[in-house]
Amino acid sequence: QNPALSCHLVDRAPHAGYRPHMNQPSSIDTMAQEKLIALQKADLHRRLYPTERRSGMAAKRDGAALLSFSDNDYLGLSTHPSIIRAATKAVEAYGASAGASRLVSGNHPLYDAFETRLAAFKSCEAALVFGSGYLANIGTIPVFAGPQDVIFIDELAHACLFAGAQLSRARVQCFAHNDMAHLGHLLARHRHAHRHALILTDGVFSMDGDQAPLKNIHNLAKTHDAWLMVDDAHGLGVLGNGHGTAFSQGVQPDLMMGTLSKALGSYGGYVAGSHAVVDLLRNRARSLVYTTGLPPSALAAAHASLEIISMDPERCARPLSLARRFCQTLGLPAPQSAVVPLIIGSPQKAMDAQEKLQQAGFLVVAIRPPTVPENTARLRFSFSATHQEKDVDRLCQSIKNLGLAP
Ligand code: PMP
Repeated sequence: QNPALSCHLVDRAPHAGYRPHMNQPSSIDTMAQEKLIALQKADLHRRLYPTERRSGMAAKRDGAALLSFSDNDYLGLSTHPSIIRAATKAVEAYGASAGASRLVSGNHPLYDAFETRLAAFKSCEAALVFGSGYLANIGTIPVFAGPQDVIFIDELAHACLFAGAQLSRARVQCFAHNDMAHLGHLLARHRHAHRHALILTDGVFSMDGDQAPLKNIHNLAKTHDAWLMVDDAHGLGVLGNGHGTAFSQGVQPDLMMGTLSKALGSYGGYVAGSHAVVDLLRNRARSLVYTTGLPPSALAAAHASLEIISMDPERCARPLSLARRFCQTLGLPAPQSAVVPLIIGSPQKAMDAQEKLQQAGFLVVAIRPPTVPENTARLRFSFSATHQEKDVDRLCQSIKNLGLAP
């Protein structure tokens, strides 16, 4: 237990004139403290570590120079000189903020250029940029599902797909991870009693790195008159020559969602689909309508990245190829993406493993419940085009030396 936490309860200097009874914890403080202590006891308390990132996945934390295997900057584009130039030019020309929501005056012409380019890259009629991937999901799902509808969602889908499903007030049926028999069973049982049905899945699962069997899911969707929405935050830029998981599996979902914040090295989210789907989102997605547009610099950076991705399939292939090298060396199953988990089990052991790797010069962050299921705390490795083969070999050697290899 962290003594600093318990002493917060009583040992605080009041701000003059701010709260009259600072020696008495308020009930909200007591509640927060109780929850924090429970998190500490379960080794599940999180803190925010100041971390500096530089090019080539170099990172600095607690004063130590580290090599990061925990970034989602899969192509190293967030520090690429031409992306930095594009962002700098935009901030100098147009300022640091959009100034208003897109439907008011925040819709800079850079949006139109980028959305047109992105739609073409995703082989869709149209695309719409949101403030983040999270905002894209929580805004989009309630537009296409409501209280009379049913949502089928993979149990390991990302938290923001679940959040969108909850916001929609549709009935939610969770299917076992990538289990097509279970999904088929739930569709047969629940589809007919509802107006519309929407299936939600990640393309690449963020904490396991495996892909969804999109062809099978798409077939089930067609058979049962359901729509398919794929969150491809981790597939864009990495799979299918950069076009993503659905493209690499030869499937065209109804709603293709992704982020500008991972392989595109910028910030923001998107949904691509038909003209009508995107126009409805423009009109009804609350997380688009009621929030400020992205800074022009984020759009300029994402656009410049997309140009690089579309011209450089070799860069896109590198993260998976480095993940393969890592898995082969450690005798792990072949990876399906740039993300590879090493399951440790208890949160405490996972934190110890993170600490040991940090001492060996690597930033590999432990992922604990509730982000992952109980007893599956893990080290999550992510590979980037800017890692060198020798970096991966050094990492593998350290994992072996520390007795962390399976
Ligand atoms: N979906 C998945 C699968 C993700 O991993 C993430 C980010 N962790 C998001 C959505 C959210 O994207 P963003 O970071 O752009 O909000």
